[in-house]
Amino acid sequence: MRPAPTALPDPATWPGEAIPDAPALPPGVPFPPSEARPRRLQRFVDEAIAAYDATRDRVDLDGTSRLSPYLRLGMLAPRAAVVAALSAGRDAGAARWLNELIWRDFYIHILEHFPHVARQSFQPARRDVAWRNDPAEFAAWRDGRTGYPIVDAAMRQMLAGGWMHNRARMIVASFLVKDLLIDWRWGEQWFMRCLVDGDPAANNGGWQWTAGTGTDAAPYFRIFNPVTQGRKFDPDGDYVRRWLPQVAGVPGPAVHEPWRLSAAAQQAAGFVLGRDYPHPIVDHAAARERALAVYGRTVAQVLSVVAHEPLWALPCGVRILRCASLARPHLRMRTPRFLTTESSRG
Ligand SMILES: Cc1cc2nc3c(=O)[nH]c(=O)nc-3n(C[C@H](O)[C@H](O)[C@H](O)COP(=O)(O)OP(=O)(O)OC[C@H]3O[C@@H](n4cnc5c(N)ncnc54)[C@H](O)[C@@H]3O)c2cc1C
Repeated sequence: MRPAPTALPDPATWPGEAIPDAPALPPGVPFPPSEARPRRLQRFVDEAIAAYDATRDRVDLDGTSRLSPYLRLGMLAPRAAVVAALSAGRDAGAARWLNELIWRDFYIHILEHFPHVARQSFQPARRDVAWRNDPAEFAAWRDGRTGYPIVDAAMRQMLAGGWMHNRARMIVASFLVKDLLIDWRWGEQWFMRCLVDGDPAANNGGWQWTAGTGTDAAPYFRIFNPVTQGRKFDPDGDYVRRWLPQVAGVPGPAVHEPWRLSAAAQQAAGFVLGRDYPHPIVDHAAARERALAVYGRTVAQVLSVVAHEPLWALPCGVRILRCASLARPHLRMRTPRFLTTESSRG
């Protein structure tokens, strides 16, 4: 850990110029350069931060700040955002928003201190997942053609405007990694190509969290059900209808499961499944079982190696495992979770 600087001298002159408004971004990208501050930040603090805790997960609402591109590109100082959050009071909304800003810092620190995460899993025990990496399925995910409306709507939102809601990022990432068993690094790369806020630290942290390979990651057996997620976070289906015109004629939450509609209902809604909108690319229940088995094997493999190899516990709490599947002896703080809870549930 590097020591904190005692002072940061200001340069005599500040280099650089204001970011010009012209040429404008494509119309689908809703982030004009002049908006960053004070307008967008102020509007968020005045109108939305109080409800942020309650609305931040709803993909159909404008409940988050959408400041990520400005923070990413240095057009809004994170300190200004923190000051705004603190000045907004101590209610749950402001506290929760501050928490998100802290996640941003956290992932920046992870990348700085564990640079290997840019290339491989933070957790050594998760480096041998037997990915399927099917290119045709990856293309379907990338283009929003999986047959799961919440996934496809989100991928199209990103293609159209270079941004995607955080809940939607988690849903599509889980679908790629768990339902399709495609290496999280493929998704990470595609996001970096598409996102206006594409950030090596936050993007990597988000992908590794979802894949169950990162710091404080979601456990591998947490697999999002795209239908349940859609019904919960887009309860009336408005988000799906906005981004998926093919199924825009389906009323209400039924839009999350178009394969359940009868031929007559499809006709009334103006589409035919398999012609205008694809059948689901995988059966989620079966894909879930497959992911559990594949991830579970990784755990079992590491467990069997660990069980036959020496393990030293140092008084400071650091444990050293000799693990044949890893190049070097492997350091761990505390007892690895896969030796306790995860293995029994896998
Ligand atoms: C798979 C995946 C990939 C992601 N890739 C990126 C990326 O490339 N760039 C990026 O800025 N964020 C990324 N995130 C985090 C998050 O989705 C976005 O920061 C958020 O959606 C931006 O919208 P907002 O500005 O309205 O956020 P708000 O909810 O208003 O949050 C305020 C700010 O906090 C920061 N923040 C919020 N959530 C997170 C988080 N989970 N991790 C780190 N910082 C966060 C962002 O700077 C954001 O602008 C990713 C998340 C996932 C699950």
